[in-house]
Amino acid sequence: MEHLSIFDILKIGVGPSSSHTLGPWKAALALCRHIESQQILSEINTIHVELYGSLALTGKGHGTDFAIVMGLCGYNPESVNPKIIEQYKNGLEEITEIQLCGKRAIPFSLERNFSFWKEEMLAYHPNGMKLNIIGQEEKKISAHTYFSVGGGFIEEEGVTPQATASPKSVPYPIDSGEDITQWTQKTSLNPARIIFLNERTWRTKTEIEEQLRRLWNTMLNCTFIGCHTEGILPGGLNLVRRAAKINKKLLLNTPTPPDASRWMDTISQRQFNFNQILQWVTCFALGVNEQNASFGRIVTAPTNGAAGVIPSVLLYARLFTDCIRSEQDIFDFLLIAGQVGILYKNGATISAAMGGCQAEIGVSSSMAAAALTHIQGGSPAQSLMAAEIAMEHHLGLTCDPVQGLVQIPCIERNSLGAIKAITASQLAIESDPKDSKVSLDQIIQTMWKTSLDMHHHYKETAQAGLAITLSQPEC
Ligand code: SF4
Repeated sequence: MEHLSIFDILKIGVGPSSSHTLGPWKAALALCRHIESQQILSEINTIHVELYGSLALTGKGHGTDFAIVMGLCGYNPESVNPKIIEQYKNGLEEITEIQLCGKRAIPFSLERNFSFWKEEMLAYHPNGMKLNIIGQEEKKISAHTYFSVGGGFIEEEGVTPQATASPKSVPYPIDSGEDITQWTQKTSLNPARIIFLNERTWRTKTEIEEQLRRLWNTMLNCTFIGCHTEGILPGGLNLVRRAAKINKKLLLNTPTPPDASRWMDTISQRQFNFNQILQWVTCFALGVNEQNASFGRIVTAPTNGAAGVIPSVLLYARLFTDCIRSEQDIFDFLLIAGQVGILYKNGATISAAMGGCQAEIGVSSSMAAAALTHIQGGSPAQSLMAAEIAMEHHLGLTCDPVQGLVQIPCIERNSLGAIKAITASQLAIESDPKDSKVSLDQIIQTMWKTSLDMHHHYKETAQAGLAITLSQPEC
């Protein structure tokens, strides 16, 4: 089984979709790497992009065309300046050329260079794309088929996916929830420590801590911006942003703090009742996903559509409980969440095109539930139990984004995923895991079987459910 780093699951990216934006962006960057390694840049006349299956059906709404253009221009989603994103997004329809790999101008327009094959699906995965390198006199130099397999992961046809490291190099191999239990019993180390020691395979202690800090700061800033930005979301649904309004109401119209850290101080200095805390959890998740829908910088966790669940639960823990006393607690939260995400990636799927929304919101809720339980002092068995409970109540959740935009039902669904994670954690902490009838490993298996049984219309095609109901004219 592939041994992934938690930083493969939790990574900084750009909205709105990990499989339809981040994955295609990375595929275009991979093509640039190929062009540079083969030293063929000067021979290229243009690039022709073909999108298949779910990418063709919902790619417009998810910004797949925009992401591929950004990747072909050589921009990195983790570091690109938000102003450049804005500039490309607004002028996308008008472009007539691009700087291929950031180095050489080639003719390129959306109309001429993209084909959306909505009726066709490539056999390996519903999110397929072909990037064709075209030389002089329209001769094809080469064709590269990529699959965006969920969570920003890509695979290229004919190329064996490279695991981050070989299984043997990880000191505590974890292929299941049961493995976590075994390692904690054998070593007497807590699960976060075991996961940290596995991460040491790839990075130094300082690098791991820096990256965890970067993830937390990105989550926090994204939530802060989302909770202070009003207006209408892009894409044509004319959906009104709500997080800023809730934030204002809860803070009784206090002037906007200058940064995220002072915003947290302002919130922690006040007393909130149960209903208001619930509203905060909702508000944090809405804020992140409104940013995600606006092509903002987010942390893919484990996908972009579900990016709001983990920051929302983490902020809930930081602001309304006393379980986060140091930065280490935040690090531990992210380590546990990331490891649970790996279990789903390896044992089932984190791709909505394969498993519907249970693979996105369900997985993020499960990750958050385990992490919250751990930092609240729950035992390893209780953390796994919380992860299981959270997924159990997302099984079969369909993916039916209206107009293919990551807005309805996606944005609200993050709030619900966060609240379910908190409830799952509370239930697990009040339970004896020995009495539990369902294990995390069984629920992952069940989720995968359910994914296989679900009709493909409910897997990010916008061909069923709400996507259809809302597209019908009102009478
Ligand atoms: S419905 Fe769920 S899985 Fe589908 S795009 Fe929205 S958040 Fe992602």
